[in-house]
Order: sequence, then C-alpha cells, then structure tokens
Amino acid sequence: MKALYMDDSYLREFEAVVTKVSDGKYVVLDQTAFYPNSGGQPYDTGSITRLADGAAFRVVFVGKFGGDISHEVQAEGPYELKEGDAVRCSIDWERRYRLMRSHTAAHIISSVINAHTGALITGNQLNIDKSRIDFSLEDYDPGKMAGFVEEASEKAAAGADVHVSYITKDEAEKTEGLSKLAKGLPPGIDRIRIVDIEGIDRQADGGTHVKNTKEIGKIEFLKSENKGKSNRRLYYRLAE
Ligand SMILES: [Zn+2]
Repeated sequence: MKALYMDDSYLREFEAVVTKVSDGKYVVLDQTAFYPNSGGQPYDTGSITRLADGAAFRVVFVGKFGGDISHEVQAEGPYELKEGDAVRCSIDWERRYRLMRSHTAAHIISSVINAHTGALITGNQLNIDKSRIDFSLEDYDPGKMAGFVEEASEKAAAGADVHVSYITKDEAEKTEGLSKLAKGLPPGIDRIRIVDIEGIDRQADGGTHVKNTKEIGKIEFLKSENKGKSNRRLYYRLAE
C-alpha cells in the first residue's frame, strides 16, 4: 500500500485498486492520497467511485490500523466494494488544503515559541475552525502569546519554501534535534521523512504541508490556557 500524500500533498484525484474490505465498509486500497487521522492532523474525506459501474461511496473516516490505511465508506446505493475493484478517488480539497495550511502554520508557531522561550512542544491538534499547540514551559507569560503568533504570521507572509525529504536512521542520529527520535524508532524503520520550512523549522513529520508559507495567509491568535504544572496550550486559526 502506497501513501501518495507523503510525496505529493497536492494530489487530490487518483485511481487505485481495492485490496481488502472488512465489514462491508472498511476499505484498503493499493495506493491512497487520503490522509489518515494521525500526528494531530485530522483525516481526509472525499469520494470513491467504482470504474466498472459508477457505484459511488463517501469516505467518512480514514485511519491507520495495523499498518493499513483504512477508508470507512458509506455506499450511496445498494452495493458494496469488493477486493479487486478498480476505483477513482477524490479528496475533499477545501478541507484538506485548510488542514495543510494549518499544519505548516503549527510548525512555524512552534518554532517561534521554542526560539523565544525554549519551550518543548508536546503536541498539536489541527482542526478546521481552530487548531491548538501544547507545550511545556515553567515561566509562562500569557501576555506574550499573541505576539508569538503575530511573528509566526509575518514569517509565513514572507514566503518560505517547504521541502520534504528523507534521511536514514544513521543520518538522523547524527543530526541535532533528531537523534532522540532516531534512537526511539522501532527496528526495521530506516527512512525518516523530514519537513523543512526553509530557514524556519526542520523536523521529522508525516503530515501534509503547503509548498510555500505564503499559502497560509494570516494566522490569528485566539487564546492561551494554563493546563496546570508546566503544561500550556495555545489556540490559533487561519484568517481565511
Ligand atoms: Zn507536523
């Protein structure tokens, strides 16, 4: 099974062959551009159409299960997908593109927070309306959070290119900031995907990103929260 979104985040239509169907509605394809719920980035939605007879299905959820990317479908008629079916797939682009823009924005905001405070980013959850970033920081000044988002927004507007590349586990072990991650990888995984926002941020990441940060548009600060101990949470959204 090939994850097409790893190398082309702008691919929104593709053809594939059904390789597995469970319970009549969980479908695995030989290749897919549908992003599965993972790493704080929500799943893609969209449609699957069987080439032979035009039978149409809505993709309502996509997840990773036991190494497979599974598409939960709802048939729009009295039929089911079967192993071996050739299909044409289409991703709901408006939703995905917004999540891509939000994801690249999250990396920029995280790098700004880290640069100013040294905070460790502990997680993020993207969403259509608003996204959040969790970080760990002892001395917390809520008054500075809006300024960090403003700075991230200015950096995005300046237009940095975003590159995806792969490095080996050995290379990662020798790279500052990636060595800990490399050592924690399960045996057998030797390829690490790196998302590089030129001059701003570089990290191991499996998500989909824009090609240039200008695509993000304005990033707006919403609020920040104190989650106790040293756990902080910041909410932001895209202006458009
Ligand atoms: Zn990411």
